[in-house]
Amino acid sequence: MTDTKPLVVWTTCHPWIQEVVAEVQPDEFDVEFLDLNDADAVAATLPRVDALICLSLTTEQCRMLDRCKLVMHNGVGYDAIDIETLAEMGIPVAVTPVMTPEGVAEHALMLILALSKQLPAVQQSMKSGEWNMLGWREGSHNLSYKTLGIIGLGRIGEAVAMRAKAFGMNIIYNKRSRLPASVEDELGVTFEPDIDRLVARSDIITLHCPLTADTDKIINAERIAHMKPNAYVINSSRGELIDEDALIEALQSGRIAGAGLDVYTHEPAVDSRFLSIPNAVLLPHLGSATVEGREASGERVITNIRVWADGHRPPDQVLEGWQ
Ligand code: NAP
Repeated sequence: MTDTKPLVVWTTCHPWIQEVVAEVQPDEFDVEFLDLNDADAVAATLPRVDALICLSLTTEQCRMLDRCKLVMHNGVGYDAIDIETLAEMGIPVAVTPVMTPEGVAEHALMLILALSKQLPAVQQSMKSGEWNMLGWREGSHNLSYKTLGIIGLGRIGEAVAMRAKAFGMNIIYNKRSRLPASVEDELGVTFEPDIDRLVARSDIITLHCPLTADTDKIINAERIAHMKPNAYVINSSRGELIDEDALIEALQSGRIAGAGLDVYTHEPAVDSRFLSIPNAVLLPHLGSATVEGREASGERVITNIRVWADGHRPPDQVLEGWQ
């Protein structure tokens, strides 16, 4: 650290995020915004950064971080950041989990409800002047007593379980390490160690594990073949968790009843085949993106950076730099 103020650089440049940052920005840091798509700005800025807040970071960009001492992911799933290179360079990584569970869980429940109640189609019908009060009853369903299968019961999965419990759902879950019985009781969840069985037992499957080599295409053609015909699949974690070709084929053929997607394999591109599937409800990676979430996460980022600038380990640091 030098005598000058540490330079904190945010790579999320949407004007309203800049406004949020400006509100929480403390005087003890210089703050800049950087568009990672602007190669000249990247080359000019990254070597000067003391702390970087980003969603993604390539190997080449990591290598430009000559003086950076902390990379903070402005979210929790850091699969798009080259953490191995950062580790080699001795740069620790922190995440920003604050308000994310609430935001993503609400979105997952919204997708489940939208599919169960046919919300997009009903809304379109109403706005075209129809009144089909009896017709829509066919194909609309309650959540009560339905089985919800959660794959990945961490921060977000637990928040989903708490909300699903309030809807009277039967909740089963899979993760690598089983939760203590007391936590299972409190959440009202039952462990299902076999993902194939979880998939076959569930009316709704919702994905809340990170993208790793183990979870890449965790929902594939073979698993879809075991799903109930009335099943919905919800993905607000990472697009790569689902084999999109297999999902599209299952939706087009009516093999399963619907999908609610917030994330896609090639973001920001969305496979155009999804656009003409009526029972695919699509969102543009909005999971944790609420006014409250952004404000809380902006403040939390600054808290972490302040602690780091004071010479201590940031509270949300998840990875060491091991140079
Ligand atoms: P978390 O607290 O780390 O929880 C992850 C869960 O996944 C843990 O329960 C973990 O179980 C489980 N898991 C890991 N590997 C698994 C595997 N191979 N099979 C089954 N379960 C596995 O993470 P989180 O904060 O809940 O976030 C989860 C993901 O949500 C993030 O990684 C990110 O991709 C996504 N996300 C999306 C948005 C959005 O805007 N749509 C926003 C934030 C996050 P163990 O403890 O047993 O390993």
